[in-house]
Amino acid sequence: ETITVADLAAKLALKGGDVVKALFKMGVMATITQSVDHDTAALVTEELGHTVVRASENSAEDALLAHVEDSQSDRVTRPPVVTIMGHVDHGKTSLLDYIRRTKVATGEAGGITQHIGAYHVETPKGVISFLDTPGHAAFSQMRARGAKLTDIVVLVVAADDGVMPQTREAVQHAKAAKVPLIVAINKIDKSDADPLRVKNELLAEDVVAEDFGGDTQMVELSAKTGVGVDNLLDSILLQAEVLELKAVPSGRASGVVIESSLDKGRGPVATVLVQQGELKKGDYLVCGVQYGRVRALFDETGSQVEGAGPSIPVQVLGLSGVPDAGDDFVVVEDERLAKDVAQQRDAKRRESRLVAQAGNRMEDIMAQMGEGAAQQTLNLVVKADVQGSVQALRDALTSLSTDAIRINVIGGGVGGITESDATLAATSKATVIGFNVRADASARRVIEGNGVDLRYFSIIYDVIDQVKQVASGILGKEI
Ligand code: GDP
Repeated sequence: ETITVADLAAKLALKGGDVVKALFKMGVMATITQSVDHDTAALVTEELGHTVVRASENSAEDALLAHVEDSQSDRVTRPPVVTIMGHVDHGKTSLLDYIRRTKVATGEAGGITQHIGAYHVETPKGVISFLDTPGHAAFSQMRARGAKLTDIVVLVVAADDGVMPQTREAVQHAKAAKVPLIVAINKIDKSDADPLRVKNELLAEDVVAEDFGGDTQMVELSAKTGVGVDNLLDSILLQAEVLELKAVPSGRASGVVIESSLDKGRGPVATVLVQQGELKKGDYLVCGVQYGRVRALFDETGSQVEGAGPSIPVQVLGLSGVPDAGDDFVVVEDERLAKDVAQQRDAKRRESRLVAQAGNRMEDIMAQMGEGAAQQTLNLVVKADVQGSVQALRDALTSLSTDAIRINVIGGGVGGITESDATLAATSKATVIGFNVRADASARRVIEGNGVDLRYFSIIYDVIDQVKQVASGILGKEI
């Protein structure tokens, strides 16, 4: 990539001779008609007191922004988006299931609700959307990627168990994100349920019930019998009113990817939550580093829909590849712009990944240089059926690292285990984890030929357990 001195001078609105002089001062001999390379041009531009803007880097993103602003109309009230958090076994899944089973409008007869990562319910008082992955891992993952999706956190606390470690963690996550909490005191059908104890214990976490003079709504309910669930929905809508949630209901849509996977028959599938505008069939969109044209939209009952507005989750078909959970999406005018932005982002992402990898290598060297007791490393390649699981596993497994052993997820992603995964594992002595996915024939050949350790799972806790065991085996003691 070069530019003639004359062209550069013209861009800078300077005389050619001035640029030649400046170049000369830098030790570069060039006449007006000769060309200089990109770096030299940038240097002399700065030398001459101008700022260097790489046109190609930002133009598409700028066009994208202008685009979105263009299409903004008046904002109206939108439904709240809710995440359910709480300690394990306190009833998060049961509550999500109960609400889905009893409140999701199944539309045409025989409609069955399915797990697409989120669902919305229509109550007499208003619409509410629930993110369908309980727990704060998913919540903080999204937040770490800069996606602010959740308006309200419902903290489930079992009335027979009280405040537990993950209850406290959930409170911390919600507070850090400045997202208001509603407490669902669950399992009140049990004989040893003690809601008052829960309220008392929450005081220590600075979560004060309204009847204690605080401002946190607390609802007693049972996810098993359903008693109190309607009160919870009312409380959510009340909180939403206070928050005055607004969005642009029409025009070009934008939002965030909640879940994604590669479907054998349908290709890349992404569940997105629309945050602004209306996403429609036939729209062109950029989605993370992917792009495409919306071929079909499905709601949580598996029915095709024509469009989806703010706070409504919808499954999108027609993308060029599988985006990451937490990626944003934006509808654009035409395929060209969608493709340009996606490709530029892809290039940038690769660049920053290379930097990150170089960083890792540095860390390796530093670790090896470290005194005496060398830290051991356990390398993993993690493949899973959906992006959410890949990320959850990556986070959970790397966080098992201790001073004695570092757990490194060196590769992986969505989809079956391929020959390339197996080769990566063989060359870096990694254990391959298949979560709800299998190895294909060529991968199996490499795995068998090289004695690669391959393990299949369908439960996250089992993965964590076994990785702990493998790590303990390497160290010769418990981690
Ligand atoms: P999670 O780990 O927080 O998602 O908890 P689950 O929803 O899996 O529930 C853990 C256990 O508690 C399961 O055996 C549920 O059947 C049970 N459970 C959940 N809610 C209730 C409830 O309201 N009453 C009773 N009696 N059991 C419940």
